[in-house]
Amino acid sequence: LAPYVGESGELSGIVAVLHDITEIRRLEKMRSEFIANVSHELKTPITSVKGFTETLLDGAMDDEDALHHFLTIIHQESERLHRLINDILHLSKIEQHKIMLEIENVNVREVVDRVADTVKKDVEDKSLQLMLPEDREVWVEGEKDRILQIILNLVSNAVSYTPEGGTISVGLKDMEDRVKIIVEDTGIGISQKDLPRLFERFYRVDKARSRESGGTGLGLAIVKHLVESHRGKIEVDSVEGEGTIFTIILPKKQ
Ligand code: ADP
Repeated sequence: LAPYVGESGELSGIVAVLHDITEIRRLEKMRSEFIANVSHELKTPITSVKGFTETLLDGAMDDEDALHHFLTIIHQESERLHRLINDILHLSKIEQHKIMLEIENVNVREVVDRVADTVKKDVEDKSLQLMLPEDREVWVEGEKDRILQIILNLVSNAVSYTPEGGTISVGLKDMEDRVKIIVEDTGIGISQKDLPRLFERFYRVDKARSRESGGTGLGLAIVKHLVESHRGKIEVDSVEGEGTIFTIILPKKQ
């Protein structure tokens, strides 16, 4: 508080500065929740690596089958840790706006082909059908690798959350000043109550299932940031037990 005193010494007013601390509190709460989440996520694979290494050193190593089995788990868990740390670092960079897009002309159709190649094996293993757009060329301005990351994340999720025999389709709509990218699956779907929180960091509808599929719970948070850094929008619609549709709208010119 700062009193205002007039020329003859009388009190003519008071200046009060009020800070709105609710926003600061909210950010602090978010930060501590994030740290708690990160610690928890890192702890799980580390506990597992530690436990299996100890079992091996305690004698299980002499059994060839056990040795192979435990080493496979240790390897998988280390890969998980690696993915998790990469995702966390990546997300923090994007959130601090430390990523400058290297804008170029990108044929999204070509990117979709690369995504299809990457998931080919998983698609075949699960006997899924992957439908691709008919157009051969759909152009936007953006960073090719980032657009690849966006589409790959959505298609990989569709593969993970669609039971055997299902269908995944990637659609492209070339509109006057923007392009729509649609990734649709006939998978397990997401309930209405989970939809609003889907893009939050570490939010997972079913932790066990996500872990099983190697997920970190950060994929969609990263996707949303990447889409927004291209001045785009992402929407999701889903019916539990029927499937999910993610729609991305990217402006053609940055
Ligand atoms: P994760 O690494 O767990 O896949 P994401 O951030 O990519 O994390 O996704 C968050 C959660 O959203 C997932 O754990 C899953 O529950 C749900 N989800 C994402 N994509 C789909 C989809 N195509 N079908 C059903 N659920 C999905």
